[in-house]
Amino acid sequence: MAEYEYETHEYDVVVVGAGGAGLRATLGMAEQGLRTACVTKVFPTRSHTVAAQGGIAASLSNMGPDNWQWHMYDTVKGSDWLGDTDAMEYLAREAPKAVYELEHYGVPFSRTEEGKIYQRPFGGHTTEFGEGPAVQRTCAAADRTGHAILHTLYGQSLKQKAEFYVEYFAIDLLMSEDGACQGVLCWKLDDGTMHVFAAKTVVLATGGYGRAYFSATSAHTCTGDGGGMVARAGLPLQDMEFVQFHPTGIYGSGCLITEGARGEGGYLTNSEGERFMERYAPQYKDLAPRDYVSRSMTMEIREGRGVGEHGDHIHLNLSHLPAEALHERLPGISESAKIFAGVDVTKEPIPVLPTVHYNMGGIPTNYWGEVLNPTESDPNAVVPGLMAVGEAGCASVHGANRLGSNSLIDLVVFGRAAAIRAGKTVDAASAVPAPRKAAIDKAFDRFDGLRNARGGTPTAELRNEMQRTMQEDAAVFRTAKTMAEGVEKMKAIAAKLDDLHVTDRSLVWNSDLMETLELTNLMPNALATIVGAEARKESRGAHAHEDHPTRDDENWRVHSIARVEGNEVVLSYRSVILDPLTTPDEGGIEPKRIAPKERTF
Ligand SMILES: Cc1cc2nc3c(=O)[nH]c(=O)nc-3n(C[C@H](O)[C@H](O)[C@H](O)COP(=O)(O)OP(=O)(O)OC[C@H]3O[C@@H](n4cnc5c(N)ncnc54)[C@H](O)[C@@H]3O)c2cc1C
Repeated sequence: MAEYEYETHEYDVVVVGAGGAGLRATLGMAEQGLRTACVTKVFPTRSHTVAAQGGIAASLSNMGPDNWQWHMYDTVKGSDWLGDTDAMEYLAREAPKAVYELEHYGVPFSRTEEGKIYQRPFGGHTTEFGEGPAVQRTCAAADRTGHAILHTLYGQSLKQKAEFYVEYFAIDLLMSEDGACQGVLCWKLDDGTMHVFAAKTVVLATGGYGRAYFSATSAHTCTGDGGGMVARAGLPLQDMEFVQFHPTGIYGSGCLITEGARGEGGYLTNSEGERFMERYAPQYKDLAPRDYVSRSMTMEIREGRGVGEHGDHIHLNLSHLPAEALHERLPGISESAKIFAGVDVTKEPIPVLPTVHYNMGGIPTNYWGEVLNPTESDPNAVVPGLMAVGEAGCASVHGANRLGSNSLIDLVVFGRAAAIRAGKTVDAASAVPAPRKAAIDKAFDRFDGLRNARGGTPTAELRNEMQRTMQEDAAVFRTAKTMAEGVEKMKAIAAKLDDLHVTDRSLVWNSDLMETLELTNLMPNALATIVGAEARKESRGAHAHEDHPTRDDENWRVHSIARVEGNEVVLSYRSVILDPLTTPDEGGIEPKRIAPKERTF
């Protein structure tokens, strides 16, 4: 057995992750008087949330009529009827409150002439339950909204005396004999010391797993560590087959051009200079949701109307917009286009391609952020002591497809909800339970095994194989054949985790070992994604199955539940929650409004 010395820390709550979700949860927990630690592998303001450009959705009605029921309807339709209705109502209803809170905490939102928060149009956000014109619902701080939110929440968390453990890498959850979470084992990257964080509640806010793919808009740190930890604890992942491709990643680098660019009036063209979205989505055109636009672009390229030497991408045009508008509303993307595509957006179109952007699936939770471990008798059974928020979690508000600007609002609404819940369930006066010795030993054994791995496959090589397979076989369009092949390839790739080779055995700034730990987290996420996709015999949201091109509500309006054991994935299904939180008498939405129908734009 591996012998390591470690230091023990005791808290009411330990939040793993300091992106928008982790910081909002940390701040809320500390505000309620809970002793709160936030553990993060990168400095808080370097979390991927910092890169969010376009904005955060809430029905403030600053630019025209809007209300939460319309926002809820758009979210339900956007999810292609796979989201949980209670959670989607909670999101849309609480969104304005959460944004005003951000404003009061100090987020420097862009302003209208009257000094109100500026809002721009975003894909899939409409009026009159999808019957009216596009709405301006997305609140923005120019094209640096995530940056503004992250810095503000970090400052506020410090003010509330939350304690930060920066550049601590969480390795594994520490679970009790009867399945409660009692803490997490961490490795301090800069001095090699080991730390056990004992807590009454652990909150996973570790972000997405975009880096399971070869080309992604997400940061290299988005490695699904929370999902990996959960899978190793014998807990499931949900709806992993739904991966969002953003229509406008810069061709080549994958760097994102925000949907706000189309919100401000930008449009896509093919090799014939045609604004082809008018054909696919006559009503909302370039502002149809992302799954829709990404598929339309892919069809254009397939049918020989792509641009460039190889006809393999599409143009995004902004040059018709006034230079002042570009400068004021989209300064960051003008710079990105210059650096990553060598393009002056005031004169030329930007070459773009659908690029992996967001994971709708994740750790299943209820709308309070409590992690679920569905059983046959109770599909909504809660895991004691464990919560998950943000992109790591799956509440599920995005279902099969997320609307643009609905993630930032998800982070703050559910980060806040988790804190409200913990305020009720965590007793600050009780003693912190000591994590089980056997759980600590098991986590150290895994760590030590990887640290001393002497197989034949370098981490970077195996990661590359995984990323290329996912990119090819779990893409925008999927066929039974490519997915079946992808499953076999991924199983063989995952089996090679036993043959890894780590060259650096030190404990101080060992990036080889850290990337190896990250690969062991990416792998169960990737496996669950492709196995879930292969099994789902329909097309819904981001899952476009060429052999089953229509949605099948009778058989498939269910959440996929994936349990990953080694390189095997065991699938089961959980019912979608169909009831909203409130009835029409209480001001809630009419059930007939959100009944499934064909999804056109
Ligand atoms: C380029 C880009 C632009 C986007 N723009 C928008 C937008 O305009 N509007 C919108 O709504 N959404 C947008 N999104 C989506 C949205 O930004 C993300 O979904 C969201 O920021 C994720 O936040 P998070 O708090 O869940 O995780 P992250 O911000 O990714 O943070 C994860 C945190 O977990 C920590 N962590 C992870 N693993 C470990 C570990 N093992 N140990 C310790 N700490 C760990 C990291 O250090 C980090 O602090 C965008 C995404 C991208 C990639």
